[in-house]
Amino acid sequence: MRRKLVVGNWKMHGSHKANAELLSGICEARPFGADVAVCVPFPYLSESAVALAGSDIRWGAQDCSAHEQGAYTGEVSVSMLAEFGCRYVIVGHSERRAYHGESDQLVADKAKAALARGITPIVCVGETLAQREAGETETVVKRQLSAVIHALTHCVGEMVVAYEPVWAIGTGLTATPEQAQAVHAVLRAQLKAATPKADGMTILYGGSVKPDNAVTLFGQPDIDGGLIGGAALKAADFVAICRAAG
Ligand code: PEP
Repeated sequence: MRRKLVVGNWKMHGSHKANAELLSGICEARPFGADVAVCVPFPYLSESAVALAGSDIRWGAQDCSAHEQGAYTGEVSVSMLAEFGCRYVIVGHSERRAYHGESDQLVADKAKAALARGITPIVCVGETLAQREAGETETVVKRQLSAVIHALTHCVGEMVVAYEPVWAIGTGLTATPEQAQAVHAVLRAQLKAATPKADGMTILYGGSVKPDNAVTLFGQPDIDGGLIGGAALKAADFVAICRAAG
């Protein structure tokens, strides 16, 4: 039985005041029957680490550099994230792929860099609406995951995978539980061909998860929790989703 994981992706939202309220709202609602984490903007890692220290809520970042250090203006290395106690880093979010031109290979390199520093990469894969309508969903997600599998070799079993259909992110459109499960089963099968640990690996669903659809999504056999965007910004909604996972 895999333990569920719920991760909040704050994206580029937050302020000292809003973060303090959100984090204390989450902490006060503990304990949860699932693992819970928040991936916050870089400048807020420090205060999140302080606010969550001593709790079982984990924290992480939303991106990292594939490089260890050097002349890469504006980038943040995984060793820096490790210094702030990050447990996770999201890599390959569709917003990074679309707005920053991140390739499958770059995403794979970032995942590898994260694991080399003991940080679990949450590797996002997902198809656009046009790709779904063209019947390419399976091809696209397998290609994206394949690049990471090749880069990680013997560490494949250590990553978290997040299936996030691009057409469902921030749109209010959610994949039906059956649509999501079908893709999760494809991803699990691909992981099984790569590692004996596949049955124990966490595959999250992301894309307009809300308190009212979380239970049915998380009830699918290969959906092990969620990567939550908009609904992670309100403590009451995020807490309800965490409870739905427990
Ligand atoms: C996300 O950005 O990872 C996400 C799933 O966003 P939302 O829940 O708002 O669709």
